[in-house]
Amino acid sequence: MHRIVFLGPPGAGKGTQAATLAQELGVPHLSTGDLLRTAVRERSPLGIEAEGYMRAGRLVPDDLVLRLIRERLARPEAARGFLLDGFPRNRAQAEALESVTAIDRVVAFEIDPTLLIRRLGDRRVCPICATVYNLTTRPPKVDGRCDLDQAPLVHRPDDRPEAIRTRLEVYREETAPLEAFYRERGLLRPVRADGTPGEVAARVRSVVAEATPGETRTTSPPTKRPSQ
Ligand code: AMP
Repeated sequence: MHRIVFLGPPGAGKGTQAATLAQELGVPHLSTGDLLRTAVRERSPLGIEAEGYMRAGRLVPDDLVLRLIRERLARPEAARGFLLDGFPRNRAQAEALESVTAIDRVVAFEIDPTLLIRRLGDRRVCPICATVYNLTTRPPKVDGRCDLDQAPLVHRPDDRPEAIRTRLEVYREETAPLEAFYRERGLLRPVRADGTPGEVAARVRSVVAEATPGETRTTSPPTKRPSQ
């Protein structure tokens, strides 16, 4: 089964890769960032509570994020697998996730921090369908408009320099320790996240295509011949 977590700093390309891979695998792409941004746009009570943290580049309190993600994981479409992008972000979330489902693979995106700052500064997103563009490497066909629904693209408030600094710091302190958490469980697969989206996609596919632990377990162990 494909129960996959994408781990990596903001700007590493998780969202872009997750959208493509989830479609290829036929599993839902669950991005807590996208779910929270939708809640903010719709002015739901959860969105209103989350907005200030997001603008500042801080983590939204665990109970709000867990409420969102538990509800998504309980839906029938997640029964065949899922791709988590931006969750878990700290140890408490990783432990909560472990208590609701097993995970088959954690793909850790590795990238030079200076490249991240450039990528986030150049990033524009569609507020309607969440498609991600980059002004230099993946510009929209019509300036400032989403290729898919023509909505005006936005520069996320948390992609501005002050919030970027906070987000990278939060990543180092709270999220990066999850690499050790998942390495200990034998699930971590590091992937270099520099290069074109196509190059990164090929690396991601190759680690996702390895036999998942669940599949390995269903194979019967070799039968031991009685010694002669
Ligand atoms: P992202 O789109 O993944 O970069 O997330 C954007 C913002 O949403 C983050 O900077 C946080 O404020 C919030 N956020 C997204 N996922 C989480 C999470 N798992 N836990 C707490 N806050 C989150």
